[in-house]
Amino acid sequence: MITVTKTFLPPLEEYNKLLNGIWERGWLTNEGPLVGQLEDALKQVLGVKHLFFVSNGTLALQLAIKALDLQGGEIITTPFSYVATTSSIVWENCRPVFVDICPDTLCLNPELIEAAITPNTRAILATHVFGTPCDVDAIAQIADRNNLRVIYDAAHAFGVNYLGQSVLNYGDINTLSFHATKLFHTGEGGAVVTNNDYLAHKLGYMRNFGHNGPNQFVGLGINAKNSELHAAMGLSVLPYVPQLMERRRALSALYDKLLAPLRLQQPVVPTGAEPNYSYFPVLLQSEEQLLAVVAALNSQNVYPRRYFYPALTSLPYVSASTVCPVAQAVAARVLCLPLYHELAEAEVEQIVRIIAHVCR
Ligand SMILES: *Cc1c(COP(=O)(O)O)cnc(C)c1O
Repeated sequence: MITVTKTFLPPLEEYNKLLNGIWERGWLTNEGPLVGQLEDALKQVLGVKHLFFVSNGTLALQLAIKALDLQGGEIITTPFSYVATTSSIVWENCRPVFVDICPDTLCLNPELIEAAITPNTRAILATHVFGTPCDVDAIAQIADRNNLRVIYDAAHAFGVNYLGQSVLNYGDINTLSFHATKLFHTGEGGAVVTNNDYLAHKLGYMRNFGHNGPNQFVGLGINAKNSELHAAMGLSVLPYVPQLMERRRALSALYDKLLAPLRLQQPVVPTGAEPNYSYFPVLLQSEEQLLAVVAALNSQNVYPRRYFYPALTSLPYVSASTVCPVAQAVAARVLCLPLYHELAEAEVEQIVRIIAHVCR
């Protein structure tokens, strides 16, 4: 069976070595040494100033919204992302205002943002979808002009650079997911990232019940900490990320070559962006063709995923009146093909043969 992704597991001895240390110390959570070590390593690898390891990428989004005091306000956001991008806005008592995506990058379209701004607009929450950087410069200018905060859902953008530096250096707060399906993972996990010292102070106490010392509280917090066991997984996986990325790059190049005769539309990576090859999305000509491709692949035990379908404008808890024609059309036609370190070249060939048979 070939699935859309497969979790990379590090050599068990390497994980066990870190577990031995945990057993010796008897220290499983609450700012343990491995959490600190992982945070330091990630700050270095990603080239960012402050990073907090948290329980998952969804809580990372909720912390970001909370830390920026956005409650009650409107947040301009993308209809084309995983559900957590929108649900975290609603969960934090803000109103998501959807702005359509660019048909080429599939990220939030900056040209449409200003028309959606009202006196209640407080922030922009955009996703670097499939690791493709948003138009971060245009978004920064709009935010400056209108006094808005910017959060990037960078769950797909681990290791993505833009104009020679980590894309995580744009916006007020960036969030990452280290879920088992992501390029770099800790089983479950995530991070909030910022270069702002004041926001870092706030995020630091917010993820730990608001504690500032054992008997003191500085503000409202929640339990968003992560454990030594998850940090150990992260520390064991992290050294392999360059290899995983290289393997995915090679497989993506093979897909590109074999799919070329079919002329399928693919998201455009903007100039200056160095992608991480975390996904391999293609756009079929119609939903009908997509369903035929999925059925043909499933019949051969290949299970791609409709990332992301449906468009988030159709969620039952958002304003039903929003229309985002580009996102809705893209969501109906987009399919992520299998891409992971253990996928064989012959399997890519087989997948493309099945698709070609339907799309010819
Ligand atoms: C995976 C993902 C999340 C949620 O992360 P979890 O760690 O699973 O909570 C949020 N946004 C996007 C775009 C994602 O792909």
